[in-house]
Amino acid sequence: MLTNELEGVNKDVYKTDWQWQEGEYTVTRTNMWTAPGCHNGCSVLYYTKDGKVEKIEGDPLSPYNQGRLCMRCLDVVETFYHPDRLKYPLKRVGERGDNKWERITWDEAYDDIAEHVRAIWEDYGPESIVSMQGTGRNICWQTPYLS
Ligand code: SF4
Repeated sequence: MLTNELEGVNKDVYKTDWQWQEGEYTVTRTNMWTAPGCHNGCSVLYYTKDGKVEKIEGDPLSPYNQGRLCMRCLDVVETFYHPDRLKYPLKRVGERGDNKWERITWDEAYDDIAEHVRAIWEDYGPESIVSMQGTGRNICWQTPYLS
């Protein structure tokens, strides 16, 4: 049962399905919690075509955001497919500030991090590395317990 009255919304189209076809788009009901780095959790409709998200709208049946979205979620498709989006580890080659990087594997990245962490432990003691938590909380509260 809806907790609020939704004027102007065609409830027959949306019903309570989690996915449906709307013309050329597959519409998927989901949630954006923190994806753009936000503390809220607005319900969204993903409009996908040929396996690609093309636009996002607020879910009119959501009692929380009631179909509304702010610009961060309305524009998040740009983030998904931006050519500069970081999708794999990069290692600096050249001097700091040269902005020269080479792609490395995840194993190489973890090995490199582990090597540097061990070197810091040995040179300065394990207390010399401190983890902090703050914004981005859904993944941060565990971090201090891992170090
Ligand atoms: S619409 Fe805005 S407030 Fe809602 S989840 Fe997206 S970024 Fe957060």
